[in-house]
Amino acid sequence: MSNGNFAEKAQVTDKGLEFNGFLMEPIVENCKGCERIATVQDQEYCTSYPLPAGKWRHGACNFATHVKASVDKSGGVKLNPIKASKRAARKK
Ligand code: SF4
Repeated sequence: MSNGNFAEKAQVTDKGLEFNGFLMEPIVENCKGCERIATVQDQEYCTSYPLPAGKWRHGACNFATHVKASVDKSGGVKLNPIKASKRAARKK
């Protein structure tokens, strides 16, 4: 969806900005720079998700266009620590 489309379809209501039946919350600081931001009445909203703060609660937003996935410094694959511990115990 283009950001212009969002601005056209979003409706300002007594409760706030509504889009497709969702009450939209403004973007958060981490969103700044993302291409999915649209401005409606001088307030910035995410065109993909109604609660931007929730998308950052457990790490980087998976919809973000301005954040690259981080590569594990040890060489890539993250291990489940419990499975790794069992695997190490078996090798002894
Ligand atoms: S896609 Fe994620 S980072 Fe981008 S504006 Fe929406 S919530 Fe923020």
